[in-house]
Amino acid sequence: MRSQVKAPNNGRLRFQIMMVVVLLVSLLIGSMPAKAADNEADPSVQETFGQLQAGKRLKSERTYVTPEQPTVYLTFDDGPSKLTNQVLDILDKEDVKATFFVLGEQAKAHPAELKRIVKDGHAIGNHTYNHVYKELYSDFQTFWNQIQRSEDVISNIVGIRPQLVRAPGGTATNFDAYYFYLMEQAGYIMEDWNVDSGDSKRANVPVNEIWQTVKASPLDHEINILFHDGTGHESSVQVLPQVISYYKKLGYAFATLTDQVKPKQFAITKPKWSRNMSLKQFQGMIDQTQQYAVAHPSPSDLVKQAEEKRLAQKLEAEAEEKAKAKKEEEAEAARILAKQAALPLQVHVLGGNTFSIEPSIYKLHANQIELPLRYLIEKMGGKVAWQADTKTANAHYGIYDMDYDLVNRSISLFTLGKQTAYYSLADMNMQDNQIIVPLRKTIVSLGGRITNAVMDPDYREVSMALRPLHFFKENNTILKNSLFAMGG
Ligand SMILES: [Zn+2]
Repeated sequence: MRSQVKAPNNGRLRFQIMMVVVLLVSLLIGSMPAKAADNEADPSVQETFGQLQAGKRLKSERTYVTPEQPTVYLTFDDGPSKLTNQVLDILDKEDVKATFFVLGEQAKAHPAELKRIVKDGHAIGNHTYNHVYKELYSDFQTFWNQIQRSEDVISNIVGIRPQLVRAPGGTATNFDAYYFYLMEQAGYIMEDWNVDSGDSKRANVPVNEIWQTVKASPLDHEINILFHDGTGHESSVQVLPQVISYYKKLGYAFATLTDQVKPKQFAITKPKWSRNMSLKQFQGMIDQTQQYAVAHPSPSDLVKQAEEKRLAQKLEAEAEEKAKAKKEEEAEAARILAKQAALPLQVHVLGGNTFSIEPSIYKLHANQIELPLRYLIEKMGGKVAWQADTKTANAHYGIYDMDYDLVNRSISLFTLGKQTAYYSLADMNMQDNQIIVPLRKTIVSLGGRITNAVMDPDYREVSMALRPLHFFKENNTILKNSLFAMGG
């Protein structure tokens, strides 16, 4: 009894220990990948991180279109404000388009102006939410948050998520390689400028000073010129007609900035802000920016995607069309083959009988007609005898005898009992216990020849010259004599 009680107890204890071991092992295994992810970033991310840390600009490949005509891209920062309507009136009157880098904070306060910018056909860029340098350039996360916040405001008012971004104060001494790289990862295009109107050098820059600055600026093929339409920039509004007329006279066109225009970007200079980005923070920012890019494809991405989709559909349709055509071709070929296979073979023996060979009996193989030996010989009135012991078939026709040797695949031809030829006949084969032979060779062996053959898609006919059997009977003696006289 005792041992019977003890045994299950032991078993339960063993089971419990086993479960603990299983649990420990699974905990250990489960914790391993998590640990690895904490300590090690993706090697390619690590490499990127190192390059950016060294101040290297890692630009993604983009293609741009250079306009034929020299072009001015008027840009207005820090709005919209009460002044924006005046700017828009002038642009309307001059019939030129511009780009407005708006602050989220200002857009929220002046939604009507923002709407009019869009309605009038100008472009909108993002200039962050509140323009406060100390916040924006203390770390990328804050900059990023402001871009998102401003974008949400703009999107709520006009339904646009601007792809173009202008850094408050410009990127010089503000951006580092990380800022540029992460903004590009998110799909944004950073826009600095190559002509500064100087309208924000200090408060209330006089009109004439702005005018002199613009006139003294270099004339590039594409000019991205910085103005401001924020509060306090009355001078900018006043100088604007003069500036537009100046560039017009020089032959410039005016256009909005787009993702097709090569952006003006300052080279990286040492930031005046002290910042530190850890690899872990960098990895986190890459995740955020890339997730954003996936969720918000840019207009050109959408165009590209649509183009790719269209191309894929076109290729698929072409492949389908091809497959369909091929199928039809094959079906047609099969129809022809089936039709041909169903054709009887008309046989004319010149001066003799005419008969038809059913399609099930003969076949067309490698351009020659093959049919059972017995069938052919008997059709001609001859006889076939089978010698099972030697595996030979004897076909007798008139003065001819043919011995088919199945073992050696050969034919011995006898004329009047005398062997006159020996062929090795690779074409000879057995099918359903019948010896299958080629028609032409067999007829020739019987002293005849094929005089004509018609192998049309819908008609098959063979004409042959072959001495009829009665000829041999009537001329037996003469044949014998002439044959032996010839020494055959
Ligand atoms: Zn600004």
